[in-house]
Amino acid sequence: MRCFFVARTAELRRELETRVPFRKSYFTDDCVWDSRAGTVEASEAEDVSEVSRQGAEAIVITDYVRKSDYLHRRRYHLRQEKGIWRIQKGEFECSACRGKEQGLPRNPNCVGCGGTGWVDPMRLRDKVQFWNTPSFRGRRF
Ligand SMILES: [Zn+2]
Repeated sequence: MRCFFVARTAELRRELETRVPFRKSYFTDDCVWDSRAGTVEASEAEDVSEVSRQGAEAIVITDYVRKSDYLHRRRYHLRQEKGIWRIQKGEFECSACRGKEQGLPRNPNCVGCGGTGWVDPMRLRDKVQFWNTPSFRGRRF
């Protein structure tokens, strides 16, 4: 995972460098909107806190500090393929309930994570697509 963190940070730096002409064309120097400020620092700071392995699959939980300076965790699902560990899925700790950090029991009815404490971004994408469907838009609650 640490090799991945180093490679990801290098990739983020490269992306930021290629965005410089775009940023200069459309944003003032002091504008942080869409600047991706803090992403490199956050990438560098991510570190492994727990690892569990079962056969050719593993779960790695990391500590990650966001721009807002609160610690949250990520959970990576790894699978070994042809002797190489690859990330199969990534999740982030649910910011809606964050039960472990706050010492509270998980909320089984949490709309963010469904009580698991982990949010799968692909599941969120499905929810957003649902909210944007014509039959859902315009509803009053
Ligand atoms: Zn939750």
